[in-house]
Amino acid sequence: MALPTYDEVIAKWDPVLGLEVHVELNTKSKMFCSCATEFGAAPNTQTCPVCLALPGALPVVNEKAIESTILIGLALNCKIAPYSRFARKNYFYPDMPKNFQISQYDEPICFDGYVDVEIETDEGLKQFRIEVERVHMEEDTGKSLHVGGATGRIHGADYSLLDYNRAGIPLVEIVTKIVPGTGKYAPEVAKAYVAELRDILRGLKVSDVKMEQGSLRCDANVSLKPIGSDVLGTRSETKNVNSLRSVERAIRGEMIRHAELLNEGKKVKQETRHFQEDTGLTRSGRSKEQAEDYRYFPDPDLVPVTPATIWIEELRATLPERPSLRRKRIKEEWNVPDKEMAAMINADVLDIVEATVLLGADPTKARTWWLGEISRIANDQNIAITDLAITPKDVAELVALVASGELTDKLARQVVEGVIAGEGTPSEVVAQRGIKVVNDDGALMAAIEKVCAEQAETAEKVRGGHLPAAGALIGAVMKETKGQADAARVRKLLLGHLGQAN
Ligand code: ZN
Ligand code: MN
Repeated sequence: MALPTYDEVIAKWDPVLGLEVHVELNTKSKMFCSCATEFGAAPNTQTCPVCLALPGALPVVNEKAIESTILIGLALNCKIAPYSRFARKNYFYPDMPKNFQISQYDEPICFDGYVDVEIETDEGLKQFRIEVERVHMEEDTGKSLHVGGATGRIHGADYSLLDYNRAGIPLVEIVTKIVPGTGKYAPEVAKAYVAELRDILRGLKVSDVKMEQGSLRCDANVSLKPIGSDVLGTRSETKNVNSLRSVERAIRGEMIRHAELLNEGKKVKQETRHFQEDTGLTRSGRSKEQAEDYRYFPDPDLVPVTPATIWIEELRATLPERPSLRRKRIKEEWNVPDKEMAAMINADVLDIVEATVLLGADPTKARTWWLGEISRIANDQNIAITDLAITPKDVAELVALVASGELTDKLARQVVEGVIAGEGTPSEVVAQRGIKVVNDDGALMAAIEKVCAEQAETAEKVRGGHLPAAGALIGAVMKETKGQADAARVRKLLLGHLGQAN
């Protein structure tokens, strides 16, 4: 039987989401010891008796990690617990030296919050509220490296290596309540939520939030119930999805997979699954443990966390502008239409456009360059726009050069290419490539006369009052002047030359 299409799925089934996001904090030292946290060091060089779990070593809580977690909780509209505790989550895993993970269980530090996201729907922009159940602290595990197999997975490997540099890095886990009522927009809502979280965390400066490096990873839970039913279906959990696009694809793919099983009268298994970037499908992981399998109990080596109210209020006072408010402000200040605003958010260029505007560029011009030509080049090269060798300063300079008449839009596109190719700033590219607008009417007239002689028939039509025919001549003149002429000026001169001046 063929897979149901997405439209067939949503005609019959109602998705329910649940999202767990793990964020690596950017503290200088680990959660319970003073080891460095820097990414990319030689294996096992950032370890000590505490994070290697040598007998007798005792953990001490990192104050900065608590501060960052409280900031996150406040930014997500959570309540901050006056008293919370760490718990041991017991399970065996080779990259976890203690054989338990220090986490929080029934007493998380932040709880009962929410995040509002807006997405473009058939009825225009619509807001969805994602309720946050809890935000808790825990430590990351080490990393296993499986050597010898073709896939990098343990299956088929000759041996495995363990790197404990990551063991003990502070993690914050943000867990939503179940999210009903998103209907066919479930994949987009999930993506928008993770994007919003990322923007909030970036604004707080508590994490690098680099999904591709794993400092922000999402576990996406989804289940289906028949439309109109109150009974929740069985969920699957797709682990460690590491890009915004993959969050959307993973949810969509799982909805289709569930619907296929349910349509055939089969059951969805409660299990964790792994997302495969290449196919957009998930494959089965382990069957999901129940909470009791972890034998949680309070960690006797750590004192409870009891942040003073005054500290919490001090932190609250330092919260940056909320991303959603910032977007509203920008939309109004720059007078951006809904569609364009959605396009900017979708392309993730808001920061870069704002930086360009702050350097003096006109908002509409700045937006057009980043969303248009530069996005196109980034797409062609299949890299992030922020990784291109063009900066907000370059674009601001480019906009100024066009505004002053030194460049036409067309020439400016050549300059963008030059900047991205590493030829220097816009002015340097202009100088080196010898790009300049032909402002000299004499030179333009020479080109116009040449073109009118070559295309005498077309020129006659224009002379006879058929103005649309002028387009072809203007194009030829632009070509003749290698795109360095101002098209409006050419038009004016051409029409004058053919007796059509108005
Ligand atoms: Zn350590
Ligand atoms: Mn966790």
